[in-house]
Amino acid sequence: MQDVLLRLENAARAAQRPVPRLLAVSKTQPATAVAELAACGQRAFGENYVQEAAAKQAQLNALALEWHLIGHLQSNKAREAAVLFDWVQTVDRAKLVQALALHRPADRAPLNVLIQVNIDDESSKHGCRPDEVAALAAAVAGEPRLRLRGLMVIPQPHPDIEQRRGAFRRTRELFEALQHDHPDADTLSMGMSDDCPIAIAEGATMVRVGTALFGSRPAKPHTPDHSHA
Ligand SMILES: *Cc1c(COP(=O)(O)O)cnc(C)c1O
Repeated sequence: MQDVLLRLENAARAAQRPVPRLLAVSKTQPATAVAELAACGQRAFGENYVQEAAAKQAQLNALALEWHLIGHLQSNKAREAAVLFDWVQTVDRAKLVQALALHRPADRAPLNVLIQVNIDDESSKHGCRPDEVAALAAAVAGEPRLRLRGLMVIPQPHPDIEQRRGAFRRTRELFEALQHDHPDADTLSMGMSDDCPIAIAEGATMVRVGTALFGSRPAKPHTPDHSHA
């Protein structure tokens, strides 16, 4: 983990940007691997599937970690997600805003929300269009049980990593426009193991790193939620 942190620091220094927060992406990794990183001081972990996160959290409850949902959220899982997570980074439609607000328990801090933007991938069904961000942000900001924190993006996985720079830059411009209306929005989540230096140079305040921290994932990913809903 120290070498990953060092790489983030070096990338930030080279770009004269603040060092971003590290979100450790623990999908497909066992609870023991999460506990090892937690012992090194890592607090924030990202999971893609509600069911997998629930099982892991049950084993790690005593550690009081901070959990982020970074996978697509089906509406019928919003109730569970509103209880299990501290952050949901994949809010991309009004229906989800309402469902998360309705189900966030009153005795918990407001749920931190990032709006996922579909910045360059017309074919992807996930993420809202750039021109939908303002209305969605207003909807989140209007919910007392939710707290608008910013934007999240997954650019098209172009094999030439340099080609993702434009997507990161456009997302940062969108983020700056968002901050104009919502000065408390402080988080721009972009960049993964292979492209985080570019994302940092373009203004990421949080990077989501899995492989570089945990090693490569098993070829067959976790069974999607709907198979055992
Ligand atoms: C898996 C995943 C990551 C981490 O990817 P790595 O290449 O393993 O660092 C980051 N963000 C999202 C949304 C993911 O699904």
